[in-house]
Amino acid sequence: MHSIAFASIQELKEKLISKEISYSEMIDFFLKRFETFDININAAIEIFDKKSFGQPSTQSVLAGIPGLIKDNICQQNRVTSCASKMLETFVSPYNATVVDRLEQHGGISIGRANCDEFAMGSSTETSVYKKTRNPWDILRVPGGSSGGSAAAVAAGFVPWALGSDTGGSVRQPAALCGIVGLKPTYGRISRYGLVAYASSLDQVGIFSRTVWDNALLLSIIAGQDTKDATTLANAVPDYTEGLKDQLPRPLSIGIIENALYAQGMDPEIVSAIEEAINILKVLGATMQYITLPTLDYSAAAYFILSRAEAASNLARFDGVRYGLRYEKAKNLMDMYGKTRNLGFGEEVKSRIMVGNYVLSSGHSGEYYGNAKRVQYAIRQEFEEAFKNLDLLLMPTHPMPAFTLGTFDIDTLQMDLQDYFTCPMNLAGVPALSIPCGFTKDQLPIGLQLIGPHLSEHRLYKTAYAYQQHTDWHMRHPTL
Ligand code: GLN
Repeated sequence: MHSIAFASIQELKEKLISKEISYSEMIDFFLKRFETFDININAAIEIFDKKSFGQPSTQSVLAGIPGLIKDNICQQNRVTSCASKMLETFVSPYNATVVDRLEQHGGISIGRANCDEFAMGSSTETSVYKKTRNPWDILRVPGGSSGGSAAAVAAGFVPWALGSDTGGSVRQPAALCGIVGLKPTYGRISRYGLVAYASSLDQVGIFSRTVWDNALLLSIIAGQDTKDATTLANAVPDYTEGLKDQLPRPLSIGIIENALYAQGMDPEIVSAIEEAINILKVLGATMQYITLPTLDYSAAAYFILSRAEAASNLARFDGVRYGLRYEKAKNLMDMYGKTRNLGFGEEVKSRIMVGNYVLSSGHSGEYYGNAKRVQYAIRQEFEEAFKNLDLLLMPTHPMPAFTLGTFDIDTLQMDLQDYFTCPMNLAGVPALSIPCGFTKDQLPIGLQLIGPHLSEHRLYKTAYAYQQHTDWHMRHPTL
């Protein structure tokens, strides 16, 4: 039975169909694994009772294969806490569209994944409940904000998980945990039921161990949704079709030189990426170096825009409608103030304050307005690059997983964690992080592939071929 811990969705399905394992044995196995090992990892905030799961048919696409859902995505009749005291008691009256679609296809969510409070962070250290640890080294963070989802998949607790990516929160933890993470094109996946952080950037993202599994999940959850007006009407292909051990041809890839050779890049990451470039070349891709000058301004623009939107999105948590309410207030203003003061953690409060400041009448032009102009420039730069190139490539993250507490004092360094990931949120383009090596301390390294709008299929085809010629995704941590 041990062998199924790291089985892919594809493999589990075969075992279920051939009756090598039963649905019940499979669920018991993963629940037991969680119970045994999550004490050291803290990937989940809650694991649901097996009795509450339906009995999906083995004929359905996901055949009952379990996964974990980040706790900012609504699951009906379950708490959706956003890892915040504010929503500790908030029970969701409905399913997010992604949850509905997974269930309709036989997916089973076995719990709620830990994350940074309201998805604000890069290390899963701002959760009010607990800090998630990296299965490759429990003294290190799994990345964030979707760190619980990533750690669970990397640790073999579940073969898939959902997260959300506003500035990198799926790709960065995928890189630090050695798994696959997709941030789709803006509008490709419905956000109905995803608790909003920065709505113009937020997307639901997918974690898996193989590219094939990721493609399968996107085929299930992508597509237009009448409940989310920002979803795109474009038809959803079967993304698992056409995945071969050969790259799509012709394929021209631009290596973002000012990212790969940026100051502060960890040399072990540089060499792993260079090795991946060589493999892609051998497989027939044409590579060329390019520079994206606006990259250097992305983190600053992201900082301002995400805070501005967070301040207005989080205004709804006022003690009236959702979750926590301070009961002993003297009057309405007192109730608003005390509820928000009690309910939000430090990181969230500081972002709301910065957000309100950059939107304030005397400063909005200088901050918000300029950040929007930078965003426009970034978009144009990507569009320009994709006129001649099929994909772009760069590291997902400049360093391997860091130890817990590393940026407790230097919070600016923590904010710079988004440097390589937030440009794609600002441009709305899809990006995929896949494992491409390990440091000598056995810490995973992630390669980021970026495509033009709606190029998810091309990203998967490229990454799938790469995975057929490498075995990074088959290495697993020992718990
Ligand atoms: N680290 C980024 C932030 O804290 C990204 C968060 C995210 O993508 N949800 O804002």
